[in-house]
Amino acid sequence: MQPLPIWGVNAKSMVQDNFLTVTKLRDKLPITLKPLADIAYNYWWCWTNDRVSLFRNIDPDAWDRWKHNPVAMLAFAHPVRLSQLANDPDYIKRVKTVAEQLKRYMEETETWAAQEARQISSANPVAYFCAEFGIHESLPIYSGGLGVLAGDHLKSASDLGVPLVAVGLLYRQGYFVQHLSRIGWQEDHYEDNIFEQMPMELITDASGKPVTVELEIRTRKVKVQVWRVMVGRVSLYLLDTDRPDNDQIDRWLTGHLYGGNQDTRIAQEVVLGIGGVRVLQALGIEPAIYHMNEGHAAFCTLEVARSEMLKTGKSFYDVEATVRSKSVFTTHTPVPAGHDVFSGDTIESYFSQYWPKLNLSEEQFMALGARRLGDPWEPFSMTVLALRMSRTANGVSELHGEVSRKMWHILYPEREVEQVPIGYITNGVHARTWTAPLMSDLYSSYLGEDWSSRVADPQMWAKVDDIPDEEIWWRHQLLKERLIAHTRSQVKQARQQRGEDNYWISSVDKLLDPNVLTIGFARRFSTYKRGYLLLHDLERALKILGNPDRPVQIIFSGKAHPADEQGKRVLQRLFEWSRKHPELHNRLVIIENYNMHTGRKLVQGVDVWLNTPRRPLEASGTSGQKVCFNGGINCSVLDGWWCEGYEEGVNGWAIGEDAHTSDQERQDKIDAESLYRLLEEEIVPLYYDRDANGIPHGWVKRMKGSIKTNAPRFNTDRMIAEYVAKIYLPGLATNLQAVRASVMV
Ligand SMILES: *Cc1c(COP(=O)(O)O)cnc(C)c1O
Repeated sequence: MQPLPIWGVNAKSMVQDNFLTVTKLRDKLPITLKPLADIAYNYWWCWTNDRVSLFRNIDPDAWDRWKHNPVAMLAFAHPVRLSQLANDPDYIKRVKTVAEQLKRYMEETETWAAQEARQISSANPVAYFCAEFGIHESLPIYSGGLGVLAGDHLKSASDLGVPLVAVGLLYRQGYFVQHLSRIGWQEDHYEDNIFEQMPMELITDASGKPVTVELEIRTRKVKVQVWRVMVGRVSLYLLDTDRPDNDQIDRWLTGHLYGGNQDTRIAQEVVLGIGGVRVLQALGIEPAIYHMNEGHAAFCTLEVARSEMLKTGKSFYDVEATVRSKSVFTTHTPVPAGHDVFSGDTIESYFSQYWPKLNLSEEQFMALGARRLGDPWEPFSMTVLALRMSRTANGVSELHGEVSRKMWHILYPEREVEQVPIGYITNGVHARTWTAPLMSDLYSSYLGEDWSSRVADPQMWAKVDDIPDEEIWWRHQLLKERLIAHTRSQVKQARQQRGEDNYWISSVDKLLDPNVLTIGFARRFSTYKRGYLLLHDLERALKILGNPDRPVQIIFSGKAHPADEQGKRVLQRLFEWSRKHPELHNRLVIIENYNMHTGRKLVQGVDVWLNTPRRPLEASGTSGQKVCFNGGINCSVLDGWWCEGYEEGVNGWAIGEDAHTSDQERQDKIDAESLYRLLEEEIVPLYYDRDANGIPHGWVKRMKGSIKTNAPRFNTDRMIAEYVAKIYLPGLATNLQAVRASVMV
C-alpha cells in the first residue's frame, strides 16, 4: 500500500518525480488498463452511469484517501492490484466499454448545438469567465453555489455540443477546509492542491516550455501559466501565478479563493479578466462572446477594448460598441456585499499604468465603474463596469431579475424600473451529475433509456406516474441509508480528530435512523441563509425532533466564510444544542467540510430539503433543484427559483408564504412559526401515514410531484438552451465573421 500523500510543505518535493500527464499515466498502466488514463483525464467520467465504480473498485480506501482524484488513484495504485485487474476479463470489458463511450462522446457531431446553435463555431466560441468552478470534489476550487452552477453550465454546454471554453483561476490552496473544535467553533485550514497529480495538464509550447502571458500588477511584472482541465468537450483553462520566476508574493496571487484583502482581490480579478483574455489570445482562441459569470471577471472587457484599439487604431469610445457586442453578463446576488467594489486609491495603484493604454484619463477610467457619474467619491464597482460594457445582462431567477432591475435602476435614471435592461434566466442543475445512479436506472426503465438526453421534456417526466410506489420508495430508502452511512463515517472521523472520548466516538453507530423523517440543510452559512431559523423557539423545535412516536432528524452541513463571525456562531449554536439534549444526540448532526461529495449524498438521500433564506436575497439557489431529481421534497421560503417551482399541494411546501416585512426579527418569527406549523401539521403526518406494507403513498405522490414538475424546468440543459437562444445568438447577428461563415455553409 502506498503511504498517505504528504500534503503541505513536502508536497513539492514529492511532485518533482511525479509530474503526471495523460501520456505518462498511460505509460505506467498495464496494457489492458491504458484506456483508464484517458478516462481519468476527462471529468466526463463523473457524470456517466458507471461513474466512480471503475476507479473505486481498484481500492475503495485509497479512493477516499486520494479524495476521489482518479489520476492519483491510478498512478499510485498498488502494482499487484493493478495487475490483478489487468487480467480480470469483467473489469477489462468495463474499461473498454467506458473508453468507447468517451470516444464516441468526444467525436459526436450530431449534437443539439449542431442544429440549434450553428452560428457559434469552435473557431469563435463562447468564452465563459468565472472566479470559481465546481466540477467535482477532486478539484476543490469552488466555495458554493456560484462555482457549482458554473460547473453545471460547462457540463451541459458539453453535452449539447455548444462551442464554449471556460476561464478561471487555479488556486494552489482552494477554499479552506473546515473543522469544528470541541466547543463547536469553526477552525479553518488550507491544504495544497498538487496540480501535477490532478486531472489537468500544463499548457506548453512546441518546445515543451509552459505557455505564459505577462501582466503588470501594480509595478511588478507577473507571469501567468495555464492549465487545461477537460470537462467533456469543454476545455477549462485555469490561470496560475505560482511560477519560480515570479516574486514570492505574486506566486500566492492565485493561492486562495476569496481569501486575503482588497489588494489580493483586485489582483486576482486582474489575473482573471485581463490575464484571461491574454491567455485565450496566446492559445489562438478568438471568442465571439465573452460571458462574465458574476462581476469578478469584468476587467476582461477593458482588455478586449485594448486589443481592439491596437487592431483598429481607434479610440476607446469608438471600440466600445464592438466590445459591448461581444460581452454578456450574468449577475448572481442581490446581497450588496456580494458585489465587489474598490476604492479609488486601490484602482489607482493597479490601473494607473493601464488607463493610458486605453488613452483614458483617470476620471474617464473611474467613470466606467461609478454608480453615479461625476461623483469623485464613488468607489469602482465591478458590477457597474460589467453592466456598462455588456450588450445584455441577466439575473438568475424571475424574482432576482426584478430585484436586480431595482438595484441597478440608478444607472439608468432616464428609464422606468421595468425598462432597466436586466432580464433573467433561471438557474438549473446538471441532471446527470446530481441524479443518483439508483434513480437514473429507474428513469431508464420507466421514462426511456435516453431519459438523460431529454431532461427538458415535461411529457417524458410525466411518465414518473407509471413508477410503482414501492419501487421508488425502496430506492429512496436505500439512498437514505447510504447518506446515513456517509454521515456516520464523517462524524466518526471528526470526533476522532477532535479527540473526543471513546464512548462518544463509538456512539456514531446509533446516529440517525433510516425510518425517521430526514431533513437536510446544507449551504454556505451566510447570515441571510438563516441556518438558525429552526432554533427560533427551542422548546417547540425540541418537541418536533424529539417526538418519540413520529420523530424528525436533521443533517446540517456548510462553511462560514473565515471572516464571518456570525456564521460561525450559528454553527456553534447548532453544535451546542445537539449536545445539550439527549433526545437530539442522534437526531441533529453536522457534517463538517461541506463539499460536492457530501452535497451529492445529501441531495440524493434526504426526504425534505430545507431552505430558509431571507427574502429576496437568494438569487436562485440550486441545491433544492438537485433534490428534485432524486425524489426529495422542498420546504422553502418563496425566494429564488422556488417562487417559480412551488405548486401548492403538489410538489412541496412554502415557508412563510407571502408574508413580508422589513423588520428582520419579525420576519424570522413569522417564518419560524410557519416552519414549525408545516412540520407539525403537514409534513410529519404525511410522512408517517403508511399502508400495511409501510409505504407512505401520500408522501410518494409528493415525491413524484416534485420530480415531474421541477425536473423538466430546473436543469442546465434547458438553461443552456435559453442562454443560447436569448443571450448568445441574438448578439451574433452583429458579429460579422460568424454570420458570414454560417451564410456560406
Ligand atoms: C449545489 C451546491 C451549493 C449551492 O447550494 P445553494 O443551496 O443553492 O446555496 C453549494 N455548495 C455545494 C457543495 C453544492 O453542491
